[in-house]
Amino acid sequence: MTSLQAAFGADKIEIPLGKVHIVKDRCKGCGYCIKYCPREVLEVSDKLNNKGYYFPQVKDEDTCLNCGLCELICPEFAIWSTLEGYIKPKLTKVVVNESP
Ligand code: SF4
Ligand code: SF4
Repeated sequence: MTSLQAAFGADKIEIPLGKVHIVKDRCKGCGYCIKYCPREVLEVSDKLNNKGYYFPQVKDEDTCLNCGLCELICPEFAIWSTLEGYIKPKLTKVVVNESP
């Protein structure tokens, strides 16, 4: 962490970490949760549920922000998230190039 990042309180920033829950046999395969998740947490499984639909699965466990959009958007009440805790964001180092 740079002194500038520390001065602006970057060391105190924490972001929520969500855990996604999917009831696969309730899913009707509309894909809304996959398409509209702001963090692209979900992907289509290559397995069918007992209704014959491809249901969503989690691509990366560490990217869900517990924003709740998938729960809100799912017409079948088949997906939701819970808050697991908070994590520190990965800080990006910004390099400023001087003009030639
Ligand atoms: S809670 Fe938000 S970030 Fe997490 S999977 Fe659902 S839509 Fe994506
Ligand atoms: S929004 Fe609900 S019904 Fe549609 S794919 Fe996602 S879990 Fe399945």
